[in-house]
Amino acid sequence: MPPTVVILGRPNVGKSTLFNRLAGRRIAIVDNTPGVTRDRKEAPARIGGRDVLLVDTAGLEEAAPETIQGRMRASSEEALRRADVAVFVVDARGGMTPSDLAFAAWLRRQSVPVILVANKTEGRQGGYWAMEAYELGLGDPVAVSAEHGDGIGELHDAVRELL
Ligand code: GDP
Ligand code: MG
Repeated sequence: MPPTVVILGRPNVGKSTLFNRLAGRRIAIVDNTPGVTRDRKEAPARIGGRDVLLVDTAGLEEAAPETIQGRMRASSEEALRRADVAVFVVDARGGMTPSDLAFAAWLRRQSVPVILVANKTEGRQGGYWAMEAYELGLGDPVAVSAEHGDGIGELHDAVRELL
């Protein structure tokens, strides 16, 4: 089995868009509709010069708002069990939410190495927005735009360093 890279984060931060970008084809379903049930998607990908199994997590979208953190954790825990590297995605444009902070605190207690990705940083203010992600305590954020492709080379480098 190739090493497994699991993409995690709260709904709508751009996980599936990043998955598609890294997998190089449209496998995951990108959907703005809240509450849409989507299965976890997997694809072989070449990241940082290594063959990996890339996993997009999606079960969290099923959660009712009042239980979202609990459901996120249950879904992510299962995915994380197989992960060699976790890619934790936040929406830098929208700012860090209590949900991001809770998720990050939980991730810091896991034994899997985490790459923090600040997504949606295209445009002039992108780098400035990305800095807010430092407050998650997961180290230097990799600023990317999954939609536009910015920063994806840096993300490849970050994965390579951990594999
Ligand atoms: P997921 O729920 O975390 O899988 O998020 P999706 O990949 O479904 O994306 C949620 C929304 O964010 C969609 O409307 C995407 O088009 C949008 N999105 C994803 N990546 C970017 C990005 O880099 N920049 C901007 N501006 N929007 C993005
Ligand atoms: Mg998704």
